[in-house]
Amino acid sequence: MLPTKNFSPQQLSALTAFCLSAPIAAALYYFKPVWWIALITLLVVFLGSFALILFMVQRFIYRKIKLIYKLIYQTKASKREEFYYKNILPQKSIDEVREDVEKWAEQRKAEIELLKKNEAFRKEFLQNLSHELKTPIFAIQGYVDTLLNGALEKPEVNRKFLSSTSRNIDRLVNLLNDLDEISKLESGEQLLYKENFIIQDLIKEVYETLSIKAEENSIRLIIKKGCEVPLSVFADKEKIRQVLINLVENAIKYGKKNGTIEASVYKIDGKLILIEIGDDGAGIAEEHLKRIFERFYRTDQARSRKIGGSGLGLAICKHIIEAHGQTIHVRSSLDVGSTFGFTLESKKD
Ligand code: ADP
Repeated sequence: MLPTKNFSPQQLSALTAFCLSAPIAAALYYFKPVWWIALITLLVVFLGSFALILFMVQRFIYRKIKLIYKLIYQTKASKREEFYYKNILPQKSIDEVREDVEKWAEQRKAEIELLKKNEAFRKEFLQNLSHELKTPIFAIQGYVDTLLNGALEKPEVNRKFLSSTSRNIDRLVNLLNDLDEISKLESGEQLLYKENFIIQDLIKEVYETLSIKAEENSIRLIIKKGCEVPLSVFADKEKIRQVLINLVENAIKYGKKNGTIEASVYKIDGKLILIEIGDDGAGIAEEHLKRIFERFYRTDQARSRKIGGSGLGLAICKHIIEAHGQTIHVRSSLDVGSTFGFTLESKKD
């Protein structure tokens, strides 16, 4: 069998030229049996047709192939590279060219799918954002209009309307701060300043910061028994403070009155520390668990908005923990409670 798959243009031209010159020389020898005339004819016809066929193949087929490569590769070959590709490297067979084109088409398909996904993501993000902005802005507009239309002069309502306006402005400011934070995290602009610190101390500081909010709901903030032995982690302390604030704040917001929020800290395999924040509140239904870390995803839109979060808290936590090269996860059951956990590198010596 001929190795038809990998014919170079030269081999292809030589074979065709031979198929052409051999019968002509044989026919000549048949009519005029002089061997040197037949041999010269064979050589002349072979060389002439070889040159002609090679010229045609290169001009009409390989030039077209070169054009295809010009389209599919974006890098420009230098004169030296072009010489190397043309004269030293084995020429590509048509099958190899087809494989290259198929590979290129696969890559483009994947790129287009990614672009489509990004486009859908962008649309959803814009829709969510305008929805988030609408609620407080329309509320502010309503209060200001009412005040201007006469309520300003009524001492029994003017303070109440102004404080509602101020609450909605706070909500907008929170949303903008969270958006700013998430866009910085996503752009990778923010560097991590890692240091060794005792995680239980940070948890206690966060508990202290949120103690008033917890007291309002008569919620106890505790560290689990047996988890008091100080464990040092190597991480960006301020960023981890933010993660803990978001998780404990959520546990208070979605926890139950007179409930308990429990932090636990475990050492796993000597290299990692697992930190968990658990509550005994409303819990999250299984169908929401997969999406809970997405931006603006809420299990109960109306209730969560009323409670006042930006819907970005968990997305920010995920970004921060992933920037540390670690993971964050959740376990939850409706009416039993939720536990959010994340890992951190243990102390660096
Ligand atoms: P939000 O600002 O709405 O609290 P988050 O990103 O912090 O945004 O949380 C996303 C959603 O996850 C919340 O709206 C809520 O539905 C749910 N969630 C978060 N933490 C808890 C929790 N501890 N218990 C129950 N549901 C929670």
